Amino acid sequence: MQPLPLPALHASHAGTWLRDANSGTRGCSKGEAVMAAADTPQLLMNAPLVASRLGYPDLSGLDLLELFAFIHPARFCVPTPKGLAHALSLDEPVDDASVPLLLQQAAGVLMATCESEDWAEREGAWSSLQSLARLRWPWAGVLSAHIRRPERAEKWLFSRLPEWEETPERPQPAQVLIEEPEIEAQLARLTGEGAEQREGQRSFSRGAGHVFGPRDRQKRPHVLLAQAGTGIGKTLGYLAPASLWAERSGGTVWVSTYTKNLQRQLRRESNRAWPAARPDGSPPVVVRKGRENYLCLLNLEDALQGGFAGRPAILAHLVARWAAYSQDGDMIGGDLPGWLGTLFRKRGIAALTDQRGECVYAGCPHYRKCFIERSARNAAQADLVIANHALVMVNAARGRDPASRPTRIVFDEGHHVFDAADSTFSAALTGQEAIELRRWIIGPEKNSRGRRRGLSARLADVASYDDAGGLAVEAAVDAAQALPSEGWLGRLAEAAPLGPLEELLAAVRTTTFARDESGLEAGYGIETECAQLPGELVEAAGTAAQALAAIRTPLLKLAGRLEAIMEDAPDWLDGQGRARIEGARHSLAWRIDLIAAWEALLSRLGGPADPEFVDWLQVDRNDAREFDVGLYRHWLDPMKPFARVVLEPAHGVMLTSATLTDRDETGPDWPHAIAKSGAPHLELAPKTAQADSPFDYASRAEVLIVTDIRKGDIPALAGAYARLIEASDGGVLGLFTAIRRMRAVYGRIADRLARTGLPLYAQHVDPIDTGTLTDIFRDDPRASLLGTDALRDGVDVPGRSLRCVVMESVPWPRPTILHRARRAAAAEQDGGAKRYDDRIIRARLAQAFGRLIRTREDSGHFVVLSPAFPTRLLSAFPEGTPVTRLTLEEALQRVANGVVSPEHSPAEKQPQ
Ligand code: SF4
Repeated sequence: MQPLPLPALHASHAGTWLRDANSGTRGCSKGEAVMAAADTPQLLMNAPLVASRLGYPDLSGLDLLELFAFIHPARFCVPTPKGLAHALSLDEPVDDASVPLLLQQAAGVLMATCESEDWAEREGAWSSLQSLARLRWPWAGVLSAHIRRPERAEKWLFSRLPEWEETPERPQPAQVLIEEPEIEAQLARLTGEGAEQREGQRSFSRGAGHVFGPRDRQKRPHVLLAQAGTGIGKTLGYLAPASLWAERSGGTVWVSTYTKNLQRQLRRESNRAWPAARPDGSPPVVVRKGRENYLCLLNLEDALQGGFAGRPAILAHLVARWAAYSQDGDMIGGDLPGWLGTLFRKRGIAALTDQRGECVYAGCPHYRKCFIERSARNAAQADLVIANHALVMVNAARGRDPASRPTRIVFDEGHHVFDAADSTFSAALTGQEAIELRRWIIGPEKNSRGRRRGLSARLADVASYDDAGGLAVEAAVDAAQALPSEGWLGRLAEAAPLGPLEELLAAVRTTTFARDESGLEAGYGIETECAQLPGELVEAAGTAAQALAAIRTPLLKLAGRLEAIMEDAPDWLDGQGRARIEGARHSLAWRIDLIAAWEALLSRLGGPADPEFVDWLQVDRNDAREFDVGLYRHWLDPMKPFARVVLEPAHGVMLTSATLTDRDETGPDWPHAIAKSGAPHLELAPKTAQADSPFDYASRAEVLIVTDIRKGDIPALAGAYARLIEASDGGVLGLFTAIRRMRAVYGRIADRLARTGLPLYAQHVDPIDTGTLTDIFRDDPRASLLGTDALRDGVDVPGRSLRCVVMESVPWPRPTILHRARRAAAAEQDGGAKRYDDRIIRARLAQAFGRLIRTREDSGHFVVLSPAFPTRLLSAFPEGTPVTRLTLEEALQRVANGVVSPEHSPAEKQPQ
């Protein structure tokens, strides 16, 4: 293999390097690098990242990541020079200066791949390259010499994809009882011959079997709350009874997670219980996500045929390459590289999914190949469906087919069920939501490209067949003119709203700005409660509610007409037509419910507050730039609708997590965990179980509370982070509660660390998605990563790559209006408002600590930079974990030495 003789450019926080086509690499200034890139296209890696390092946003070149995505679609690659080297079996670059040569070598390997006979992803490449050449993709000219024209014309993507097949409805599951010895035997089979038999895991597994027993009374599901410390092996623990039950009963078990990480892990572990395919070819295990995660082939076709122009069109072609090789068409967290979308800056990926529910179902020419339809059908026949909390709740609430609603559910990461219910069962009448509804009914604004159509185009055949249906569509389109339209945010700022909804939003905005006392200066979101509202706002709400009712009425009529057509089907209505009308009915029902929820929200304004709900007004901003305005309504206790919608129809539900209960000085707080499960709303008394972690936290982890960094002292905070990262030689996960502080710290220390060979990455700063940032962090033991909540809850990095977690301060809850209302309610009930806050903080600390020790061999430090860390919060850490309060200097020494046996230190011991 020969390196590709083209100039190459690399920029990191430590400096900038250029390499000519055939000669050596030299360091250069940023200005020189920008000039070189403007002169001749350079080989580079991750153009947006290099651009941000050079401070030159318009940078373009021959991006190796785009080339990789073209040549190896649907293949994993960590998007760093080292990651690329691994993916192509090249030697890792030893330092920044050797990266340009690596880029030339990698390009050489990829060109050689195109010429080789055993290039697995050759099919479709030549045709795709012809289109990319027309779009002036920088790589097209280079590649054309290496990809030969196929002898026979290649199949177009849409004819290559397989079709799904209709299957009969599954009968209801048989009533079976799984005995404990069978569960133990199954567990032993899954963990494998010779695996260590762990009593904690066995008892957890036997307990999990309980939820699969037959139900005695309607609306009385078996409910189990099972706390399982990290390392218990809870996944196989519940898969053992779940797989037995699914096999014997012929039913489907849903396992629901909060993070994509756990979904991936579950998919892997389920291989032990189920084969990849049944004898008939169908998959027994299916990962199911919301529609907005999957590629919509109709949107892709539209993008390929002129709907996208310029760079987004190039993205569409690379996505088409991927679609031909993808396992399931999942664009978010599936096998589409997470970094691909960020290379193209605009929201191209989102526009290729079915974000707005505009699917035309059987009216779509790709219906029989559609990834979303395939996944829904596979799920209906599966033994195990792996989903997320939000989807399980949405499916329980309004699943298209009642027979496929989840009835046996394991909520893993169960401590997040409350938050997921909180957002699923809330209502938000905002400008962005309302304009989406307008587009769904009327269609997009005149000047927009693409295939998007309004209701009348989607239901043209119904309208021509059924007069009343046609009139209802017309009436809905007329009434929807009252909804906000393009440019609404600008009109609100200029006090020139158009129509009743914009007038309402303008009044909401004015009131919020007039009353917010907390966030104005920070430039982020502001809010105010719905109390003592000005008469003008209440009046605007009344008019807006009438306008919404005027939209809902014809939609209801239309839904009635569609139902009538289905019942008394005309001759022309074939199976596909029925499916399309079914789909339209489903999405209509969803919109009708949405509008009704908005009307209910508005009808309360100005009247007495409903104690079940918390309502507020909000303006969303980022760096003082407004992007949404609206009214919000959340349940004071979202587990109430959860109990009704999810628990009540279910037969068995298990919530499990390492941190299901709060733990104060007196031990685990089960009554609170039970109250938070929703079960008491059905007067159910759930079973509880507990299996403690087998990890030896006392000798593998140490909590260090640094007492000499003053709150609010950013230079000192940044200095502490930099020195801790240096002391631990990288491998630090830095957690922040405010993006602003994180950016400030990152800006001060990234260059300094890079110069010592310690790369630093940050969420919300680097133009890279969170999943990819975690991949990069995992791949490089000297890298460190800064981030906020998403990293605290979902990062799974076992081994040396994560050996120190640093929290900037005690993670107090943000004092939002919703928080204040729940805190006030807690004050009346149990333990008071302070205890309510303490529980939230301890849960966050426990989650953050949980990132540190993922396996028996892991060890590390958990550092909190807080001069006054309340002792009552220490119970968040696992029992026996040594805790020491010390100065930064002392902490640096401890971190540099690694974790040593705790006996030597006078640490505060955790309650045993
Ligand atoms: S069936 Fe719907 S989601 Fe699937 S490709 Fe067609 S329009 Fe897109």
